[in-house]
Amino acid sequence: MRVGVLSIQGSVREHIEKLKQIEGVEPIETKGKETLLSLDALIIPGGESSAIGKMIEDFDLKDAIIELNNRGIPIWGTCAGMILMAKHIVNDDKVYLGIMDITVKRNAYGSQLDSFKAKLMIPAVSNNEIEAVFIRAPYIEGVGEDVRILAKYDNKIVAAQQANLLATSFHPELTDDLSFYRFFLGINR
Ligand code: GLN
Repeated sequence: MRVGVLSIQGSVREHIEKLKQIEGVEPIETKGKETLLSLDALIIPGGESSAIGKMIEDFDLKDAIIELNNRGIPIWGTCAGMILMAKHIVNDDKVYLGIMDITVKRNAYGSQLDSFKAKLMIPAVSNNEIEAVFIRAPYIEGVGEDVRILAKYDNKIVAAQQANLLATSFHPELTDDLSFYRFFLGINR
């Protein structure tokens, strides 16, 4: 399975290292249209959504990512990646990819200094508690009717799925737990 990580900016290497630990996965760093279109799954990492969003436009990658979504290829946005996938951003005029029917709030927990870790029970994903690392994280304020809420923290939605699309406010690539990767790669099976 060819699993790409959009390698413009942000926690690319960390996702690649995690993917290397999963049998049957060929991890691929990419910011190229042709390579994107050859993938079986795509991760859009955390980083700075405005910077990654601008480069998606500059490199003319938006149509390729939308094409992957139209094909039903699994796409997972972590943190900034979730912002890029959202159809609505409450505190930003921009819509980047606009592929997932969620309304997100950027920097919803405050500044970089307000970053934190929490343990979450996410029954759809694991029988054990999952450590969630929030770094200047967004949360989901609202979801469309096709969106399945996977996890809440402090009564706010922090993980959700819509068919082939997965979004998390937090960073599974910064922990030792592979359960979100296994969940993501199993979405279409
Ligand atoms: N606050 C960042 C943004 O708005 C996201 C932070 C992250 O991805 N860790 O893009």
